[in-house]
Amino acid sequence: MILILNPNVDEQSAEYRQLLAQLAALPGIQTRVHVEHGNEQKLTEMYLIGNTKALEIADMQNLPCVERVVRVSEEYRILGRHKDDRRDTHFDYNGVRFGQDTLNVFAGLCAVDNREHVEIMMRAVRDNGQVCTRMGAYKPRTSPYAFQGHGKYCLNYVFELAGKYGIKVIAMEITHESHLHEIKEALHQTGNPTGVMLQIGTRNTQNFELLKIVGRQTELPVLLKRGFGITLDESLNAAEYLASEGNRNVVFGLRGMKTNMGDPHRNFVDFSHVPVVKRLTRMPVCIDPSHSVGSRAASPDGILDMMHVTAQGVMAGANMVLVDFHPAPPKALVDGPQAMLLKELPYFLEDVRIAREAYLKRVELRQRQDW
Ligand code: PEP
Ligand code: MN
Repeated sequence: MILILNPNVDEQSAEYRQLLAQLAALPGIQTRVHVEHGNEQKLTEMYLIGNTKALEIADMQNLPCVERVVRVSEEYRILGRHKDDRRDTHFDYNGVRFGQDTLNVFAGLCAVDNREHVEIMMRAVRDNGQVCTRMGAYKPRTSPYAFQGHGKYCLNYVFELAGKYGIKVIAMEITHESHLHEIKEALHQTGNPTGVMLQIGTRNTQNFELLKIVGRQTELPVLLKRGFGITLDESLNAAEYLASEGNRNVVFGLRGMKTNMGDPHRNFVDFSHVPVVKRLTRMPVCIDPSHSVGSRAASPDGILDMMHVTAQGVMAGANMVLVDFHPAPPKALVDGPQAMLLKELPYFLEDVRIAREAYLKRVELRQRQDW
C-alpha cells in the first residue's frame, strides 16, 4: 500500500509526527519513505510493507498528511501501474522530459570509434533539432576478439563534444560497476557538459548485482533493455530492482527477442508490447529498431524494415527511439550493417513525426467515442 502525502509535507510538523506514530502502531507493518524533489514541489510517498490486506483504505485516507492511498498489487510495486493509481508517469533529466506522453529520439553511434565520427554524428543530431544521442563506449561483444569499445578513454572527448553541440542526454551502456564510476568521473572532470542515461543491455537485464548498484544511485537515469530470452514479466521485475534500490528514473527498452522465428530479422520484433508495458507500468517505453531488425533490408515500397518497425512502435505510443546511425557504416567497428546513413536522418525524423502524429490522432479518436 502506498500513502501519497500532501505535497511539500513538513517532516518537522506535528501532523507528520502523528502520522509516523500511528503507522508505527500498526502491527506487522513497516514503512519505507520515498521523497521526490520536483521543480515545483516535493512529493512524499510512504510504502507500507507487510500484511496490508488487513488495512482499510478509508482508515488510511483519514491519517494526517495523507492525500491519497493506493493499494498496490504484489507485482512491480514501485514502477507498476496500480488500480486508481494516478501518480505521475514522467521524470525530467538535464532539461529533457521522459514520460509516457513524450517522444525522444536517440540517434547515434552504436559504438564510439573515433573523435571525428563522434563530432560528425553530434553535429548532425544538433542540426536536426535533436538533443539526445547514443554513444557506446563499453561494448559487450559475442567474441572476445572483437572490438570491446574504447571505454573510459573516449569519455572526455565524447562529453566535451556533446557540450559543444548542445546534446543533453547520451544513452551509454555499462556492463560493470567501474564503468559507472568512470562515467561520473569523466562528467565531473569535463564540467558536466551533458547528461548520461545509463543503458543496461539485454545481456545484463538479470545481472541483479549490477541492477542494485545502478539503482542505488539516483543521479543518472537508466534505460533497461528487455532480456532477449526471458519473459516480459521477468524483465519488468528487473526494472523493479532499480526502483526498489531507489532509482525510479527508468525507461524500459524493447529490442526484440532472440529466436529464429523472427528470421530474417536479427531478433523477433516485439514492439507490440509498447502498449502492454505502458499499461502494466508507469515507465516510458523505448524501442530499438536497429538491434531488433539488424539490417538495412527494405520492402518493395523502398522503406527500410527498421523504419517500418519504428513507425509501428511510435504509432502504438512509444516514448523513445534508440537508433544506430553512422557517418561511414563500412568503417564502423560495431554493427555497421544495421547503421542508418546521416543523409537519412532528416528523413527518418520526418517519418517518426508522421507516425507520432498518427498516434496522437488515434488517441484523440478514441477520446471522441462516448463509451
Ligand atoms: C546496444 O544498444 O548497443 C546493444 C548492445 O543493445 P542490446 O543490449 O539490446 O543488444
Ligand atoms: Mn549494436
